[in-house]
Amino acid sequence: MVRLMASKVRLFVDQPLGKGQSVLLNREQAHYLFGVMRLTLGAVLSLINGNDGEWDAEIVKTGKKAGVLICRAQTRPLQMPPDLWLLFAPIRKERTAFIVEKAVEMGTARICPVQTAYTQNADRLRVDKLRAHAVEAAEQCGGTFVPPLDDLAKLDRVVADWPADRQLMFCDEALLGAPLTLPALPGPWAVLIGPEGGFSDAERAQLRALPFAHPVSLGPRILRADTAAVAALTLWQQALGDWA
Ligand code: SAM
Repeated sequence: MVRLMASKVRLFVDQPLGKGQSVLLNREQAHYLFGVMRLTLGAVLSLINGNDGEWDAEIVKTGKKAGVLICRAQTRPLQMPPDLWLLFAPIRKERTAFIVEKAVEMGTARICPVQTAYTQNADRLRVDKLRAHAVEAAEQCGGTFVPPLDDLAKLDRVVADWPADRQLMFCDEALLGAPLTLPALPGPWAVLIGPEGGFSDAERAQLRALPFAHPVSLGPRILRADTAAVAALTLWQQALGDWA
């Protein structure tokens, strides 16, 4: 007999979670739970808030525009990803959303959109929508942590303020086909992925001169930026992260 997993609804709430803690639902959350998912009084769903782990919460009040849940028990503690940042140059909207979604699923501690010389349409970046994508990805993939997503910043500003102890995996398309050499250095890291147009020669020279930057190849073929982000995160996680 196939036992269907009870696929519990998972919801991110921006409120503290704890035993007996009541959680007030806003109009959108009430509509989703009671209108779309058709949950009723007494039903139990999973809540996360990015800090307190995952909690079973019971519906104790329903309504068209509001509702109340009570936290009954913690089902999973907060599970932090490795201290890995993803720096990426925004690309087309839906593909940028894909990068953010994969960064959450694959385990990153911070997501930093960076503007580089060849970044297109940087002014159209909707960070609020990307933050919503990050929350949705955490809800769907079973994560308990939602990485903060920074506002767009210029790459040279980001590297000028670089934390002394953090290494940078600089995915450099000019190293096409070179063997992948990622130094097995412990501690905090970051991955940097360029835009569709790649890095300028000046950026490449500036990055390669940085003591904490490690230029790496992602194989013998040019990858789309979104593919490169997934490839780089996979390589890092397998070599230095929590997949090994
Ligand atoms: N327009 C560039 C070109 O044709 O050389 C390609 C840029 S690629 C679409 C976007 C980003 O993905 C690059 O800036 C780099 O960070 C990464 N990338 C793609 N393929 C790569 C490879 N084989 N090695 C290292 N990085 C790569």
